Amino acid sequence: MLSYRHSFHAGNFADLLKHIVLVEILDYLIQKEAGFEYIDTHAGAGLYSLSSVEAQKLQEYAGGIGKLDAEDFPELARYFEVVGSFNPAKALEFYPGSPAIANFFLRSQDRAWLHELHPRDYELLCENMSGSKISRVQRQDGFAGLNGLLPPVRRRGLVLIDPSYEIKSDYDRVVTYIVNGHKKFSQGIFALWYPVIDRRTIDKLQAKLIKSGIRNIQRFELGIYADDYARGMTSSGMIVINSPWTLFNKMSQVLPKLAQQIGEANSGHFKCDVLAPE
Ligand code: SAM
Repeated sequence: MLSYRHSFHAGNFADLLKHIVLVEILDYLIQKEAGFEYIDTHAGAGLYSLSSVEAQKLQEYAGGIGKLDAEDFPELARYFEVVGSFNPAKALEFYPGSPAIANFFLRSQDRAWLHELHPRDYELLCENMSGSKISRVQRQDGFAGLNGLLPPVRRRGLVLIDPSYEIKSDYDRVVTYIVNGHKKFSQGIFALWYPVIDRRTIDKLQAKLIKSGIRNIQRFELGIYADDYARGMTSSGMIVINSPWTLFNKMSQVLPKLAQQIGEANSGHFKCDVLAPE
């Protein structure tokens, strides 16, 4: 039984990192006319009202996007443009999830495949994406869905794997499905989100990916504290395989600034490195 609801967390510091990376990759993919496929294995509800009871309960967005002023981050103009497009009245009322962000970029020649298992979030996702002719919403296990979609018909694409990890086996499943997916679609971009709660779990996950022999793996991490098991999730990361050449430079510029801005008690944390070279 799934109990995780992303509506409690939308716009927090983990979404910030994930969606900055997502925006940069999608913006890169649309530079070419050729169509591509976007596969979101764990899509969530798609779009979130920050005045909902859920978002207001912990107000996590206040420690994420709520801490940023677009004027201080000209490097993130595209990210703020996307978020702003859902907030025409200027005040931050809605926060876009990964499906809505993808839909901002995708063109008629592209396709989005969105998987969501939670019954209520699946319904909300269908409602939120009902205006999108190029998105297909599936109430299906995202890992199984991914396996069936690779290699994509268009041979260009991005896979976003963003589980909630409430089922501990997800830490193993993400590696298995990336390694198998990469065998079928070695030129594809794979982006995996992970939480840093217990660093040892993440070290194991990353060691398995490196051992798989996959090349061109980059890691970006952003957190509000240095690792501290007692505090719960102190940071989160994105592992990107076959990253666009522009991403690493962008992240190395912006992550130190972001860590300083969102860090609690001046102890923000970031990583920007290469786990496996090209
Ligand atoms: N990617 C979304 C975004 O960036 O806006 C957030 C996704 S949230 C972290 C994870 C979602 O995955 C939850 O809505 C959960 O219900 C869903 N989920 C969990 N296990 C799943 C599975 N095996 N297949 C598809 N969806 C799953």
